[in-house]
Amino acid sequence: MGEAYKLDCDTCVFTKNIFVGFGFSYMSLESIASFVQDAALKRCIEEFTGNPSTRYDAYDAIYVCPVCQDIRNELFIEMISDSSHYKISYACPKCASVMEQEHIENNAHVHLSCPACEKGKLKATFYMDWD
Ligand SMILES: [Zn+2]
Ligand SMILES: [Zn+2]
Repeated sequence: MGEAYKLDCDTCVFTKNIFVGFGFSYMSLESIASFVQDAALKRCIEEFTGNPSTRYDAYDAIYVCPVCQDIRNELFIEMISDSSHYKISYACPKCASVMEQEHIENNAHVHLSCPACEKGKLKATFYMDWD
């Protein structure tokens, strides 16, 4: 089950809804491959799917740029087989730095600065479960 949070800046009007966690569609690699948009990632998943030793972990995650604080809500996926290992990484759309995964707790300030005003802190509020 996944969780949806609303992020609000304590200084300006910035707000963003984000989804984190494990959804029903992540129950198999075939299912993940069916909704992945990126052609290279899709091919990679299909290669791992063909290997019976593959183990994987996949969930929705929040990624933050350590340089400009931009936020992306993206699929985390890591696949390990006897012969290869793949872990996804995301580049910041603004400055191309490698983004870092953040963890979110209800009613807590996350370690995120506001990408809009850069002074405020973002607070996460849980608002629903999803699957
Ligand atoms: Zn702000
Ligand atoms: Zn950046």
